[in-house]
Amino acid sequence: MLRIDPGALEAVWRDGQMRYPEECCGILLGRGGPVSHATGALPCANAAAAPRLRYAVDERELFRAVKWARERGEEIVGFYHSHPDGAAHPSAADLADAWWPGCSYVITAVADGRAGETRAFRLREEAGERRFEAEPLEERP
Ligand SMILES: [Zn+2]
Repeated sequence: MLRIDPGALEAVWRDGQMRYPEECCGILLGRGGPVSHATGALPCANAAAAPRLRYAVDERELFRAVKWARERGEEIVGFYHSHPDGAAHPSAADLADAWWPGCSYVITAVADGRAGETRAFRLREEAGERRFEAEPLEERP
């Protein structure tokens, strides 16, 4: 399960709306575990070549986030991105680009510029095979 602070979830929605019709992306910081707790959302530049179709967190921003989290005694608990006029479900490209097993991947659907359905998926890796597992997303501080 991923528990997310209301402020962090709002930041995800805002980012998705601001960058519509491109995909937004960012990092979720907090404390990991079977029940992860995301206390903050850090918007990042979408470094993908086709940002309307895919997302890629800028590597320098990812490195900065790891350092920043460590200094605050937190960790990266997940990543978020938006699907402009698409469903809140991971694509084959999303799985191919997901490299952090144990992390939560949050997807928010943005229809006509308005953020709507938002879902979380935990990246699992077993015997070298990665897959997304739907997990409950709870909005709570
Ligand atoms: Zn996607």
